[in-house]
Amino acid sequence: MKHHSFDQLEPDISVRLSESVQSQSSPVKTNLAVPSPSTTALDLDQRLLDLKQQGLRRRRRVVESPQGPRLITNGRELLSFCSNDYLGLANHPALISAVRNSLEQYGVGSGASAMISGHTAAHAALETRLAGFVGLERALHFSTGYMANMAIIPALVGKDGTVFCDRLNHACIVDGAWLSGAELEVYPHLDMVTLEKRLARCTSPNKMVATDTVFSMDGDIAPIPKLLELCERYNAWLMLDDAHGFGVLGDRGQGSLAHFNVPYSSRIVYMGTLGKAAGVSGAFVAGAENVIEWLLQTAKPYVFSTSCPPMLAAAVMASLEIIGREKWRRERIRELILQLREGVTGLPWQLLHSDTAIQPLIVGDNHIAVRMMQMLEVRGIWVPAIRPPTVPKGTARLRISLSASHTSNDVAQLIDALRVIARMDLDE
Ligand code: PMP
Repeated sequence: MKHHSFDQLEPDISVRLSESVQSQSSPVKTNLAVPSPSTTALDLDQRLLDLKQQGLRRRRRVVESPQGPRLITNGRELLSFCSNDYLGLANHPALISAVRNSLEQYGVGSGASAMISGHTAAHAALETRLAGFVGLERALHFSTGYMANMAIIPALVGKDGTVFCDRLNHACIVDGAWLSGAELEVYPHLDMVTLEKRLARCTSPNKMVATDTVFSMDGDIAPIPKLLELCERYNAWLMLDDAHGFGVLGDRGQGSLAHFNVPYSSRIVYMGTLGKAAGVSGAFVAGAENVIEWLLQTAKPYVFSTSCPPMLAAAVMASLEIIGREKWRRERIRELILQLREGVTGLPWQLLHSDTAIQPLIVGDNHIAVRMMQMLEVRGIWVPAIRPPTVPKGTARLRISLSASHTSNDVAQLIDALRVIARMDLDE
């Protein structure tokens, strides 16, 4: 079994696959979250200190307000460019009222896994609606996207299979691939030529190409028609993680399949999340009838986990109405993207090429990225600094995420603050 690695990846996070391939000698390198080396209780303090010294220690902030362009934290209001609430629906009155009505009908908890008694009429109706919305035969609702990816990949690809992953895939695709025990082939970001070469020489009886559609830290979009063509040619599943495309791409927000006008294919396994543009929480997998039935029968994260509260399914139903109807939300994002990209020209940092709501400003150094985040905060603006291992070493960035609920004044305020910071000495 071979594992392909890339020179530019960080040597310090090379890892070995868990159980199924521990006997193999070749380590796999990836920039994504993977099982970390074991830590004894004694060296935990040192390890935590190391993280701090490398500028990698993270902290959570406590938010004291609903989601929106302005968040209150520590008693202070900040203009936020942090959230994945791309359409501004997380605090929408229609969703709140759907939850209230559902509470009256179903109460709070779902009580059991879907296979026992946790599958309510609200969940069932949502699955039907989601499948129709993305144009696939059937859908299965999950409590989180992370869980969905951990379910899909092992259910469809086993130890004799190979999963081909874009180098910048989200951690939960990589973790799903680890869990499957399949061989993992990481191909350079969006490099279809290399992917094709590797598919052509792969002898596994079962192959899957798994990719983010919109890359979560970069904002660029995978070439889905080309990926489907390759999967057809080399007889592979195509697993699409549309976490950042669902609701945002497509004329009615149906996601990346509609964006590219991709024809129906039974080899597409589509995963959409419901905690980002849909403004709620949860996820769904959609695909051919038999794929979904197989997941329902065999995917352990689905079968053995309590289904999500029915009120969340009801909230997503309300959200889908708005996503489909209110095109202005997607148009607003497009206008804000243009304004931001024009506004930051001439600054010492570049925005990555991105046509989506995710606009990453590449800073490079971890410490400078954190300092910029702090300086923006002094000016009342909250933009997260994203550092390794979430992104490759040397590419720390401010991940600016735009929402339909931002105004052009909000974006102007961010541009002005970046211009002021650009004149300051950040190396101190
Ligand atoms: N896939 C991608 C590309 C993501 O960005 C995320 C969340 N950040 C997930 C999956 C996981 O989804 P969830 O938050 O619903 O677990």
